[in-house]
Amino acid sequence: MRSVTEHQRVIADMIAARPAITVALADALGLVLADDVVAPLSLPVFDNSAMDGYAVRAEDTAAATPERPVTLPVAEDIPAGRTDQLTLEPGTAHRIMTGAPLPAGATAIVPVEATDGGVQSVQIRQHSEPGKHIRRAGEDVDAGTTVLRAREVVTPAALGLLAALGLAELPVLPRQRVLVISTGSELVRPGTELRPGQIYESNGIMLAAAVREAGADVVAAETAGDDVAQFTAVLDRYAPDADLIISSGGVSAGAYEVVKDAFGREGDQGVQFVKVAMQPGMPQGAGRVAGTPIVTLPGNPVSALVSFEVFIRPALRAAMGLPNPQRPKRAAVLTEAVTSPRGKRQFRRAILDPAAGRVTSYGPPASHHLRWLASANALLDIPEDVVEVPAGAELQVWDLS
Ligand code: AMP
Ligand code: MG
Repeated sequence: MRSVTEHQRVIADMIAARPAITVALADALGLVLADDVVAPLSLPVFDNSAMDGYAVRAEDTAAATPERPVTLPVAEDIPAGRTDQLTLEPGTAHRIMTGAPLPAGATAIVPVEATDGGVQSVQIRQHSEPGKHIRRAGEDVDAGTTVLRAREVVTPAALGLLAALGLAELPVLPRQRVLVISTGSELVRPGTELRPGQIYESNGIMLAAAVREAGADVVAAETAGDDVAQFTAVLDRYAPDADLIISSGGVSAGAYEVVKDAFGREGDQGVQFVKVAMQPGMPQGAGRVAGTPIVTLPGNPVSALVSFEVFIRPALRAAMGLPNPQRPKRAAVLTEAVTSPRGKRQFRRAILDPAAGRVTSYGPPASHHLRWLASANALLDIPEDVVEVPAGAELQVWDLS
């Protein structure tokens, strides 16, 4: 049997980064910068007012007090967006709004609150220091500075900065495009009637959501019956647009194992089926279809999602350059004893209390108990050689929250 670590490595080696692309700012959120960003201009772009008030020469307000205000004629009105270049003559004021360009010669802004708010002339009740309430060009960003670094994730604030710098697009590492195929002749779409022996298809929506949650794109999430022609028809249609294919089902030891049947025959396309020493999720496969990597997951819903967590999510995130490709792993104290099969690394669903550093196994270990996984926030990671973990023991836990 192959170890979990070895199968993780096989899959990580298959999933390659895509070349960088240039995207519009609006499409860049959450992606990883492919290059440093150098500021093409300074911020603020020009000296401007930090307050609604009056641009003055500070010395003209030297004598101003609340009891004996200084009165200055208001020579100009400067709202934000005024584009002509003004000069403030000595002994005058310009009414000015926040963000409006400072007139040449002005050395301070008197906030409107320290005046009578006059339009023709203004009474100033407070003296003002040179530089007061002025935002200087370049005090935030100097043109030519590196403001963001390659490999940083594009955040809302980063997008705001890029837009402020006048950039309309940026180079990023694109999302991996993933095709999800569920297999099984028993599967029907939720929302339709079940006939005896049928069940609702649930892996497709679950794996597609996990792909998106990992930061990748879903090309399509399709279902095929246990029929090689149907399965390969889905591959032929969507695989050319995919960087990775994930199938579920059809890889165990029974008959009608469509994924095995499609690739498992001699001389076939290089998909290798293996047993991995883990529970859930022992039957696994990986390889390439017409050059595109494929990971074939087992069909039991818990096996499928846990396998995605263990093998695919870290590799996908790493290929996109995303930070923390691995789930955070913490040591936590087990509240109740658990058992684990000899020779298999067991991933049990669990409830982690991170503040208390305690973890409780949640639900039975069998791989069809999706209900428990739905409310779990952690996986217990029980090593291969451990068969029993007593209450009070410390275990490694994957934090899914
Ligand atoms: P398989 O790996 O195809 O042998 O499937 C193992 C178990 O998982 C069977 O009980 C299947 O009915 C179930 N199963 C497989 N695929 C899905 C799916 N997409 N949605 C829900 N159950 C599934
Ligand atoms: Mg099946």
